[in-house]
Amino acid sequence: LVSIRGLHKAYSPTVQVIKGIDLDMHAGDRLVVIGPSGGGKSTLLRVLMGLETIDKGSIAFDGQPYIQADEARGKTSIDTKVRNSIGMVFQNYTLFPHLTIVENLILAPCKSRGEKESVAKDRALTFLTRFGLRDKATVYPSQLSGGQKQRVAIARALMLDPKLMLFDEVTSALDPELVAEVEQVIQQLALQNLSMMIVTHDMWFAKNIASRVLFCAGGTIVEDGPPEQVMGAPREERTREFLSRVF
Ligand code: ATP
Ligand code: MG
Repeated sequence: LVSIRGLHKAYSPTVQVIKGIDLDMHAGDRLVVIGPSGGGKSTLLRVLMGLETIDKGSIAFDGQPYIQADEARGKTSIDTKVRNSIGMVFQNYTLFPHLTIVENLILAPCKSRGEKESVAKDRALTFLTRFGLRDKATVYPSQLSGGQKQRVAIARALMLDPKLMLFDEVTSALDPELVAEVEQVIQQLALQNLSMMIVTHDMWFAKNIASRVLFCAGGTIVEDGPPEQVMGAPREERTREFLSRVF
């Protein structure tokens, strides 16, 4: 599904954040990215979402060229059509405050895809029902808890039928008692074999949801394998050291 080759990214000459990443992700993979703060996890997801330029390397999606660094010109080309098949949810919910929940969900499908409002609304209500939010359809984001807002943010991304979902610490800003309801929604998506890449500091969740775990540190992939291996019996000293600090 995703092929990353020779990816390099710096924010400035002194801030080299991704220092050569090669990665193949297959359809249905649930890839969890763990690693120390500043290791480049969010940057990797933002690059995949087409939100950042890159310095070197290329990314293919579904066999199509997606992102390419033009080193000679110092430019990055991004195929926006491909980008539209990827969805992302961030740590801080970014719902539109002046729109109701249903309006938040149907905005992009109606505006950017020209979907009929009644059709989009039906789909939105189906998501809201699935995520236990049917009664919140006509309220505004300010009337929701953090956990509810994140579930809406996930539903909003799903409205565009993504082939890949990126989750960047979607529960980190939540009160502990609200974390489970958001993680359950992601578990639901896992049951449907949606391909996803998840950055999380919740090691319990990581172990449960992952089909594969990447340990990223210092801008490289240090270790890559099934959760039982990377988290249970890591081969690399750096992974062991990290896990002993977070568990
Ligand atoms: P965390 O676990 O804290 O979220 P992370 O692994 O997601 O960390 P990144 O956010 O990718 O790390 O950041 C990697 C490095 O890049 C950090 O040193 C950070 O300060 C730097 N960085 C991130 N975004 C920018 C930016 N927009 N401009 C300059 N430097 C940045
Ligand atoms: Mg981050």
